[in-house]
Amino acid sequence: MRVAVLKERRSGETRVAATPETVKKYVGLGLEVAVESGAGLPSGITDAAFAEAGAKLADDAAGALAGAGIVLVVRAPEAPLPRGALLIGTLGADAAAAAAYAEAGVDACSMELLPRITRAQSMDVLSSQANLAGYRAVIEGATAYDKGFPMMMTAAGTVPAANVFIMGAGVAGLQAIATARRLGGRVSATDVRPAAKEEIKSLGATFVGYEDEESKAAQTAGGYAKQLSAEFYAKQAEVVAAHIAKQDVVVCTALVQGRKAPTLVTEAMVASMKPGSVIVDIAADAGGNCAATKPGELVVTANGVKILGFTNWPGRLPAASSALYARNLLTFLTTFWDKEAKAPKLPEEDDIVKGVTLTRGGAVVHPLMKPAA
Ligand code: NAD
Repeated sequence: MRVAVLKERRSGETRVAATPETVKKYVGLGLEVAVESGAGLPSGITDAAFAEAGAKLADDAAGALAGAGIVLVVRAPEAPLPRGALLIGTLGADAAAAAAYAEAGVDACSMELLPRITRAQSMDVLSSQANLAGYRAVIEGATAYDKGFPMMMTAAGTVPAANVFIMGAGVAGLQAIATARRLGGRVSATDVRPAAKEEIKSLGATFVGYEDEESKAAQTAGGYAKQLSAEFYAKQAEVVAAHIAKQDVVVCTALVQGRKAPTLVTEAMVASMKPGSVIVDIAADAGGNCAATKPGELVVTANGVKILGFTNWPGRLPAASSALYARNLLTFLTTFWDKEAKAPKLPEEDDIVKGVTLTRGGAVVHPLMKPAA
C-alpha cells in the first residue's frame, strides 16, 4: 500500500505530516511512501533526507497521490484524492467538507477531534502542537520585551524580574508557565477550570482568578472549559484588570472548544499597561483573547504595548512541530494496524476511531459533521 505525504499549500503552513524518522517506520511496516518534492523544506527536511529514509519523491501532488491508500497531511488537501483513500490530518472540516469527502469516497480522519483520554495521549496532535506553541509564545514575548525576564543584580544596579501573566492553563499555558519560570520571570496564571489551579501552583506560579459556585463546574466531561455566564466573565475581568496593569508580559492561551476564543483582555486593560509591555495572543487562530489583537499581525498600541497576534504558533518552530505531529500520526496508524494485511484497520466501535472519523465508505459518520436537520 502506498502512503502519500503532500506539500502543505495553506499560506503560512510550515509543517509536514511525515519526517525521515516516520518514513523509515512506514517502510518497515511494508508500506511504500511517496513524498511530494519540497514537502519538508520549510521544516528543514530535504528531498534527499526523505529519499535516504526510503521514500520515493514525486514531482507534484498528483504524482504522490497516484494509487495512494493512505494520505497524510497537516491541513485539508486541495488536490483530488484517490477513491478509497484514508486521509489523516487536522482537516478543520465542517458538514459541507465532510459531505465532499464522502462523495469522493475518501475515509477522512480529523485528528483535532481526538478524545483527550490517556490512551490517546501519544497521538494527541492538539497537545503536541499546543506544548510547542506555549513555549514559543514565551520566547517571542521575551524577545519583544525590551527588558530581561530574570532579576539581574549587577555592579551598575539591579534589573527587576519581569511580571509574566499566563491566561489559560491548559497544555499551552502550562508550558508557557514552565518556560517563563525557566527564564526567570515572576509568573502568575489564571484559568476557570478548578483542576488548573493546582497545576498552576505545582509549576511554581501564583494563581490569580475569580472562583465561585459556577466555576466549580467549569469543566466538561472531556476536560475542556465550558462557556460560562456573562456575570462570571465580568467578575473574572474585575480580578484580572487590577492584575494586568502590573504585568510586563501577558500570554493568552484561553480557548473554549468549538467557539470563538473568549475576550479576556479588554481595550481598557491594554490601555492600563505600561509602555513596552507585551501581549502574546496564541488564541489568535480562534479570534484572540485580547480585544486589540489583529490575527496574523503585530500591533503596537497608542500607549506602546506590543501585541503579537500571529497565527499558527506551532508552525513557528516547524522542525519540532513536524517531528511531533508526524509521530502522532505514526502512532495513530500503528495503533490501528493489521500486520497481516499490512494495512490500517480502524475498528468502528473504538472511542479514538469514533472520535476522529468523519467519513467511512462514502458516508458521513461523525455526529458533528451531519448536516443540521
Ligand atoms: P484548550 O486549548 O481548549 O484551552 C486552553 C485553556 O484555556 C484551558 O485550560 C481552559 O480551561 C482555559 N480557559 C477557557 N476559558 C477561560 C477563561 N475565561 N479564563 C481563563 N482560562 C480559560 O485546552 P487544552 O490545553 O486543549 O486542554 C483541555 C483539557 O484537556 C485540559 O483539561 C487538559 O488537562 C486536558 N488534556 C488531557 C489529555 C489527556 O489526558 N490525554 C491530553 C491533553 C489535554
